[in-house]
Amino acid sequence: MKVPMLDLSEQYSNLRDEMLKALDDVMTSTRFILGSNVKKLETDVAEFSNVPYAVGVANGSDAIHISLQACGVTAGDEVITTPFTFFATAGAIARCGATPVFVDIDPVTFNINPELIEEKITPKTKAIIPVHLYGQMAEMDRIMEIADKHGIFVVEDAAQAIGATYKGKHTGEYGHTATYSFFPTKNLGAYGDAGMIVTKHEDLAEKMSVIRVHGSKPKYYHHVLGYNSRLDEMQAAVLNVKFPHLNEWSEKRRARADIYTALLKNKLQDKVVTPIEVSDRHHVFHQYTIRVERRDELQAYLKEQGVATMIYYPLPLNVQPVFAELGYKEGDFPESDKAAREAISLPMFPELTEEQQTYVVECIEKFYN
Ligand SMILES: *Cc1c(COP(=O)(O)O)cnc(C)c1O
Repeated sequence: MKVPMLDLSEQYSNLRDEMLKALDDVMTSTRFILGSNVKKLETDVAEFSNVPYAVGVANGSDAIHISLQACGVTAGDEVITTPFTFFATAGAIARCGATPVFVDIDPVTFNINPELIEEKITPKTKAIIPVHLYGQMAEMDRIMEIADKHGIFVVEDAAQAIGATYKGKHTGEYGHTATYSFFPTKNLGAYGDAGMIVTKHEDLAEKMSVIRVHGSKPKYYHHVLGYNSRLDEMQAAVLNVKFPHLNEWSEKRRARADIYTALLKNKLQDKVVTPIEVSDRHHVFHQYTIRVERRDELQAYLKEQGVATMIYYPLPLNVQPVFAELGYKEGDFPESDKAAREAISLPMFPELTEEQQTYVVECIEKFYN
């Protein structure tokens, strides 16, 4: 049996007629940039996130960068984040000319440990970027309490967590902004690059919508430095077809996660640490990530058996060569280092079958026994 990490083909065949019609409508309209599809998606995603504003942008990385710019983050500032995330989180900070300041993670959720944030705050600290890794939100009330006390901004990197909640509130309801990525492999994926920012703050929404069009308002008059970072109509049309299914897909991911956890607990209790959904959180399982010993050997074995897996992430950001000048070293963030050695993500997508999941777990069992 072959089990891919992600297979989007069944989803496409279910949506194909509607998708072709939606794309044909865009081409027939000849309106390709910032038209009715982007508007509709912004309205729907804002409502879904329970906030008044959404700004469609070119991708999830720009969504973080534009959020930081709108919050006034600039050269000489510091922005606190986790080293155990995708590069774009810290890349966006550096693109503002600011310095990423890393804080270790909570080993249970893999998210930034709020108890370690305050000791890193200096007069230069302008913002915190918690990342809702793998689809589970960070401890937002504690993070907001710290940010409010020090008068700093919070940008939630929700690239992996659209639909997740913490104490009943959505991504975007806590932070000054929250950013989504619609990269094709994300829980809501376009057929190319796309992203969006949601916010409760009208002034930030206004600034961000100007930054995405070269800082131009009115057209050809530039008061702020922006660039071209628009979500295009073709991608928005694809996302409008997919969006009504998002909750149903999240529920399927959660059901797949329950199946993995039951199978793994039954057979591999002492070999595998299964993901934990913290009681006040709704996890949308962008990834189903376990911790194991001999992780790389397990991955090679599973590959031979036809089971794809991924390592998110093998090298924490504090030790990435591009950030060498920040002066961090391995060992500065022990929990992040440990996660980078032990974490492995199993195949996860709504259409994954129980038969495939049983096979994945059988292969893991064979490896350890
Ligand atoms: C995917 C991702 C991004 C970047 O999104 P793109 O749309 O690929 O630019 C940022 N942060 C995290 C945590 C991600 O997973």
